[in-house]
Amino acid sequence: MERTLTILKPDCVRKQLIGAVIDKIERAGFRVVAMKKTRLTPDTAGEFYAVHRERPFYGELVEFMSSGPCVPMILEKDNAVADFRTLIGATDPAQADAGTIRQLYADSKGENIIHGSDSAENAAIEAGFFFSAEEAVRVN
Ligand code: UDP
Ligand code: MG
Repeated sequence: MERTLTILKPDCVRKQLIGAVIDKIERAGFRVVAMKKTRLTPDTAGEFYAVHRERPFYGELVEFMSSGPCVPMILEKDNAVADFRTLIGATDPAQADAGTIRQLYADSKGENIIHGSDSAENAAIEAGFFFSAEEAVRVN
């Protein structure tokens, strides 16, 4: 079993798509290990996306990610990282395969509904950003 970290981004919450997106995730075989609704500040959003600090979209990304509540989750499945990237689709919804979460629900490359970790190593770091060790224990 492998873990990945996802965030239902502020646009997902605003569009009242939390349930629809979690339905897609569970139907694809992912187990929800941990979940909360929270709100990033500009500082914490900037820290989460620190790897993109030098990119031209960083300011907008930080502003968007701190613009409202979001729903981070730890997910578990065989091959979770790669399978989840397949499920969400390309960063730009216009390039995302039919039936992927971003193709179905996202408006733009910036406001693209959902985050997915890009490696198991980063998934563990990102999980620690939102959840304590106790919260990350699978109890079911
Ligand atoms: N992003 C953006 N413009 C870009 C590329 C990325 O606004 O040209 C935003 C978008 O919200 C994306 C996030 O920055 O999800 C992180 O970028 P990354 O390249 O890691 O894409 P992801 O892994 O989310 O597909
Ligand atoms: Mg990424």
